[in-house]
Amino acid sequence: MQKLKYERPFIRKMNIGSMNKFGTSSNVQPVKHIDGVPVASLLAQFGSPVFVLSERQIRRNYRAAARAFKTRYPRVQFAWSYKTNYLNAVCQVFHQEGSWAEVVSGFEYRKALGNGVAGNQIIFNGPEKRREDLLLAMENNSLIHIDNFDELFNLIELCNEVNIQPRVAIRVNMDTGVYPQWDRFGFNYENGQAWNAMGKIVASGKMQLVGLHCHIGTFMLSTAAYVVAAGKMCDLLMRCRTELQNPIQYLDMGGGFPSTNTLKGAYLPGVDTVQLVDDFAEAITTTILNFGFKQDELPLLILETGRALIDDAGYLLGSVVANKRLSDGRRAMVLNFGVNTLFTAFWYDHQISPAQDGSQHTEDVVLYGPLCMNIDMVRESAHLPLMEAGDNVVVHKVGAYNMTQWMQFITTRPAVVMIDEQGQPHQIRKPENLEYIEMMEQVPVHLEPVLNPPR
Ligand SMILES: *Cc1c(COP(=O)(O)O)cnc(C)c1O
Repeated sequence: MQKLKYERPFIRKMNIGSMNKFGTSSNVQPVKHIDGVPVASLLAQFGSPVFVLSERQIRRNYRAAARAFKTRYPRVQFAWSYKTNYLNAVCQVFHQEGSWAEVVSGFEYRKALGNGVAGNQIIFNGPEKRREDLLLAMENNSLIHIDNFDELFNLIELCNEVNIQPRVAIRVNMDTGVYPQWDRFGFNYENGQAWNAMGKIVASGKMQLVGLHCHIGTFMLSTAAYVVAAGKMCDLLMRCRTELQNPIQYLDMGGGFPSTNTLKGAYLPGVDTVQLVDDFAEAITTTILNFGFKQDELPLLILETGRALIDDAGYLLGSVVANKRLSDGRRAMVLNFGVNTLFTAFWYDHQISPAQDGSQHTEDVVLYGPLCMNIDMVRESAHLPLMEAGDNVVVHKVGAYNMTQWMQFITTRPAVVMIDEQGQPHQIRKPENLEYIEMMEQVPVHLEPVLNPPR
């Protein structure tokens, strides 16, 4: 047999961003504008780093999602999940669009009242509702979603004290075929806990059981889980009508729809893999419509929308602090924001773009933040053109959970800007400063600093 001729292996440099056998990548394309506003001017005006939100994109997302549900089902109400992003300007955009408020603490509850949301349009969720919070919610005729038996018994006592009949629902958890099961919130369906709680509420005669609530997970990748959940909720609702003679007015199916971000460890980008709000709307509404309710007995369908409506409307603009070579030869870049500012870097491989024209040479690079800790990694590996200290970057899809979970660790939090529909930027949260951070501190007299100590 003739020996094959030796061919020398070779390595050929390829520029990502142009066509090659691995497809194209937009990472090298600089992003110089957001909604028509130059990135450079936003950084010059509001500092670096800075969060930027597109009001246009938030409204577009809201309207598309509302349409997906309202064209499939006759009675739909959205409630904005405050913990996803509770900057008042953001909440107002959702309230203007018609959203109620969904809150999970006394703090968020009061924020919703401050935003002018009518008490009867606030949904009060969460495992910890303090006595004064419950009283406030009862006085305002809000929807109180009970999480556990201790809360239920507290509420019965409160009802006796103040003689108000609150409108309540229970949070239900269940096996939806997605594991690990989310069973730490609410009453379980399979073991009968949920049914027992409903029986106790109705028997107490102290409250109106007006709804059933579930929130089966977050960044859910399967619409099938919602089919299971909606079926079990309908079953409870029907039994409540027939066996307890208690009409339930609404089914609150929670949130959990994914944004188009890419989860860490995912093989393909989120834009190519996650299901659309339309798919979730189809799964939920078809299940309820096919359950067998009479047309005039269809419950109001409430959705507590969060990340899917705002993630892609948010950007984080920042700057390169330094470039390095690591001991293993990898290139590393230090940015002026880390996981303190971009909390969701723990979950996502955020897409990051340069904000200016630059080198055609691209390379895998580790992106670090400025914190003095090892976990401060913005991306373990990103394919980016070389950038110099002082160059700027744009991080995409950061609108959800960053402006509520950001940490004030070793430095202050940046400004947040919203670009309105006419392309006008507005600062909606000032950058923090030392004075703001220290405003809450108190130093005992014997520890007060000695100014101008004697030498
Ligand atoms: C966080 C939360 C939501 C919103 O969740 P997303 O996954 O962002 O859609 C809705 N309902 C409840 C009870 C929540 O805790």
